[in-house]
Amino acid sequence: DIDYIYEALLNTAIDIDSLEADSHLDEVWIKEVIKKAGMKLKWSKLKQDKVRANKDAVKRPQADPALLTPRSPVVTIMGHVDHGKTTLLDKLRKTQVAAMEFGGITQHIGAFLVSLPSGEKITFLDTPGHAAFSAMRARGARVTDIIILVVAADDGVMKQTVESIQHAKDAQVPIVLAINKCDKAEADPEKVKKELLAYDVVCEDYGGDVQAVHVSALTGDNLMALAEATVALAEMLELKADSTGPVEGTVIESFTDKGRGPVTTAIIERGTLRRGTVLVAGKSWAKVRLMFDENGKTISEAYPSMPVGITGWRDLPSAGDEILEVESEPRAREVVDWRKYEQEQEKNKVDLKIIEEKRKEHQEAHRKAREKYGTLHWKQISFKKYLERKEQKPLKPKEKIERDSNVLPIILKGDVDGSIEALLNVVDSYDASHECGLELVHFGVGDISENDVNLAETFDGVIYGFNVNAGNVILQSAAKKGVKIKLHKVIYRLIEDLQEELSSRLPCIV
Ligand code: GDP
Repeated sequence: DIDYIYEALLNTAIDIDSLEADSHLDEVWIKEVIKKAGMKLKWSKLKQDKVRANKDAVKRPQADPALLTPRSPVVTIMGHVDHGKTTLLDKLRKTQVAAMEFGGITQHIGAFLVSLPSGEKITFLDTPGHAAFSAMRARGARVTDIIILVVAADDGVMKQTVESIQHAKDAQVPIVLAINKCDKAEADPEKVKKELLAYDVVCEDYGGDVQAVHVSALTGDNLMALAEATVALAEMLELKADSTGPVEGTVIESFTDKGRGPVTTAIIERGTLRRGTVLVAGKSWAKVRLMFDENGKTISEAYPSMPVGITGWRDLPSAGDEILEVESEPRAREVVDWRKYEQEQEKNKVDLKIIEEKRKEHQEAHRKAREKYGTLHWKQISFKKYLERKEQKPLKPKEKIERDSNVLPIILKGDVDGSIEALLNVVDSYDASHECGLELVHFGVGDISENDVNLAETFDGVIYGFNVNAGNVILQSAAKKGVKIKLHKVIYRLIEDLQEELSSRLPCIV
């Protein structure tokens, strides 16, 4: 089953780490395991997707265009530090408070709504700077429709101005330019526009489509013109939403309030939020207890593009989390449990890519080992050396056997030269035209050593010992590496065994 294969892969990775550079894991085995795991993974992913469709809450398919109605734009203010973002937001918010003749204390909930005399509305996200914007985007949330780029007319384009432009481009969000601090004597709005040309921000005066508004956030001068330019751009964007059916939205901010517990600010994107609605976001859920606006005023309904503070959450969701309505509390619990479970699973998942890399590394080590030890070629040289040392005339070299799966690599160990010689003679008499070739990887006098085991492992071979021993450590190591050690005290038994082993490899013949 899949867990077993994961475990096998995991163990493989660990083993590879602890192995010597020139040792070798059975490559075929790893390939097989990866193949199987891949297949299983595909299968398990299919299964998981199916389960997710049942267990998780997901967005509805796109709405029927007939259901779409215009919605107001959601705007983020960006720009260089000290160019006046905060002042601008404050002034916009105050205009609103004054216009509404509502004496409530404004609260920072991450977003607020401004109504123009024409009846148009704009939602401003009031966490200026890139951090919030980037954090949201990193979570895949696309809440902002328009960016108001603030550039101080006395300072011009600066580092964060350029960064803001880049953010807007990356997110494909259009810009309205607010040339601020125009009340100052040294203000030079034209210089700002010219400088922006270098960053592909082309104002209308220069034949482009970026609206530029000269403002003073300090005096409030021309802020209505800025708002109107924003609304005009929004009209061109034809922003629409479906305000029916289950709610969808995005978490803008979340914080814990002493009295109300976890609170989130959301921008509603679809449907209409009401009290009692059950929502999930990230790994938290809520039965909406209370809804309020940026003035702390309780509201009973929130439509698309509207910022709304929501209480009733069990935990704190994160900024950028998708908010989805579900049909009941048990369903919300199920969704959250599933997400937690899935996250756990994700953590435990073995990274197949790492395994694949390890395997490649290992293949390379294997190749090097072969280069170092050689295969049949090596056998002949060593054979010669051995015979030279024994001052015997070299045996005529055998026909070269192509090393493939029909080869049985062996390592011979004997108690004395004489027994090895006898064994070598038998091996030498073995006809290379047999369906399964014999490859003498190594031979020598003495007990089975770790080196023998490593060689056998490298060449997927079998160790034959005649009148020699293998210590417990060696036996354990061999067992761990899947290396066979065969010890005999009678030559013909050893030969019989060898023949048996050879014929056992025969089914691998294609
Ligand atoms: P932020 O860092 O972009 O949020 O900039 P702030 O809003 O904090 O403004 C930085 C400084 O510029 C403050 O001292 C503001 O009073 C001042 N400031 C902002 N807007 C204007 C403006 O339109 N005219 C003038 N003269 N000063 C401004």
